[in-house]
Amino acid sequence: MGLALDLAVENVGAGGGPFGAVVLRDGEILGQSGNRVTESHDPTAHAEIMAIRAACRTIGDFRLDGALLVSSCEPCPMCLTAVLWARVERVVFAADRHDAADAGFDDLEFYQLLERPRSTWSVPVTRLPHRRASRPFETWTSYADRIDY
Ligand SMILES: [Zn+2]
Repeated sequence: MGLALDLAVENVGAGGGPFGAVVLRDGEILGQSGNRVTESHDPTAHAEIMAIRAACRTIGDFRLDGALLVSSCEPCPMCLTAVLWARVERVVFAADRHDAADAGFDDLEFYQLLERPRSTWSVPVTRLPHRRASRPFETWTSYADRIDY
């Protein structure tokens, strides 16, 4: 956790957000990163996402079974979902969504948004029916050489 917090603090001086994350497995660091949103002009470049990407590159796989994600702050909903997609085994964090809100970040607001009916969201998210909507999944499920994930 000390490393994740150091990454978060150092990242501020480097022009990034105050977040750091480390992915480990069996005591070995597979990936680590600070937040890179402003530097890379990428709103998804949160520390946890970047650390997951680095860890996956390190092991040459898209699954992080048995891995531990250590984050300086509670993962936002996007990062938490990335953790689930990556099959990370466990997550620990220091500061929480309320601490992030106190510093001006939207983590708490987004968690609250997801708990409300979608019809109340500020961003309309609606289904647009299409006659070929199922075609990608039909193609996927019938593709013998697919790599399931
Ligand atoms: Zn995040």
